[in-house]
Amino acid sequence: MSDEERYSRQQLIPGWNQEKLEKSTIILVGVGAIGSYVGTILVSSGIGKLILIEYDTIEISNLNRQLLYHAKDVGKSKAEIAAKKLRLINPDIEIDWINKKMEEVSVTIYEEADVIIGCLDTFIGRRWINSMAARVQKPLILGGMFAFLGDVQVIIPEVTPCFECQPLIPDEELAQACTPFGEERKKDREEIEEEPPLPAVATLSSIIGGFMAQETLKILLGLGSNIENYLFYDGLNNATTIIPLAKSEDCPVCGELYDLEQIEFIVSSTETVNDLILRLALTYGLEKPDIMVQGRFLDTEKKISEKNLSAKTVAFILDKNLAKPIKVVLQIQE
Ligand SMILES: [Zn+2]
Repeated sequence: MSDEERYSRQQLIPGWNQEKLEKSTIILVGVGAIGSYVGTILVSSGIGKLILIEYDTIEISNLNRQLLYHAKDVGKSKAEIAAKKLRLINPDIEIDWINKKMEEVSVTIYEEADVIIGCLDTFIGRRWINSMAARVQKPLILGGMFAFLGDVQVIIPEVTPCFECQPLIPDEELAQACTPFGEERKKDREEIEEEPPLPAVATLSSIIGGFMAQETLKILLGLGSNIENYLFYDGLNNATTIIPLAKSEDCPVCGELYDLEQIEFIVSSTETVNDLILRLALTYGLEKPDIMVQGRFLDTEKKISEKNLSAKTVAFILDKNLAKPIKVVLQIQE
């Protein structure tokens, strides 16, 4: 079978470039439910090389959704069996498998990737791979699910907020020591992995895996924008919500990577505080922000000119979507 024939239908898509895909290397960390689908789609689509990183073995309870594994595979290495099955799907793809924890894999392997994909079900695992992706400066796609709910985040180094920037990590998770490459983190992760199993169904893993594979292909092909940059999916209501996240200047992982200028906001003295709030909400994807100047909230009905603010006023924007306030400089113009 010629390559041309195998990929002929996707090559009808405007902007498709099969050669670009064939030159790409993808690292897939976690080949469980979502990873099974991501691997299957990418291998079928004709990427160049796939590196699987997974230390787990196959259990009977995996078989309802981890579709690369069959009853006779129980007890075997997921990485090894996934590589075998994926080679059957497309023997032209170079597939390496590493039966180790991701923390034990050499940085030089991660440096090989054009895109890193993390299908990991713990916050601590996601935080670890996020810090590795930032270190090697590679795009990272994260996805997860819980029953009929799922999420996808696309992280482009120096462009989008990273996983650690986002306000959606529960406070108790953020409160844990952030030593991504330290022993302490490994121990934390092992403890978390002993928690009870999460509810999981194949429909969600196929949908979230589909989103993640699609974002990967778009990055490789240079097609369109990413999902800007956190997608939440609710399978019971068939609802997808895109939540724009803000970079955190104080982010322990990527904060130093960004040459962040002071955030300045041009304000007209004739507009009301409410007008300004609306613009801030649209700019930063906030719900109902409050503006605090010198420890006091601005009165929303009043005009800016009535507030006696200096031409450059430091203000803090507070909103329930933000883990902590954003600091901005209001540049007030006549
Ligand atoms: Zn960050």
